[in-house]
Amino acid sequence: MDCVFCKIISGDIPSNKVYEDEKVVAFYDLEPQAPVHVLIVPKVHIESVLGVDETNSAVIAHVFEVAAKLAVELGVTDGFRVVTNTGENAGQTVKHIHFHLLGGRKLGREE
Ligand code: 5GP
Ligand code: ZN
Repeated sequence: MDCVFCKIISGDIPSNKVYEDEKVVAFYDLEPQAPVHVLIVPKVHIESVLGVDETNSAVIAHVFEVAAKLAVELGVTDGFRVVTNTGENAGQTVKHIHFHLLGGRKLGREE
């Protein structure tokens, strides 16, 4: 499949990983928008929030467990955001569901 995040998960494309387990991987965004900008990505290829259903939603809950751990580890518990863009109008560029963990600076309302 021609999916950049599937290729990162399989190791075909290198990434700067901060966390990995059997269900998810987390790595630093190539173009960071904040001092801490990590992408938390389920290993299963789900296209977006629109592809989440009762068969795969457990991995999304797991993403938030990992987000909580990483927020502590990366020192952003004073304020951070977990964001998933869905569809063109929201600016989704990679069609494999992923969660931006952003922190380390004051975050504005429109980002
Ligand atoms: P989206 O715009 O779909 O919400 O987020 C995609 C994110 O993936 C962008 O912030 C972009 O910088 C990041 N990204 C795209 N390709 C790569 C890559 O090959 N490696 C890494 N580490 N990040 C990537
Ligand atoms: Zn994929």
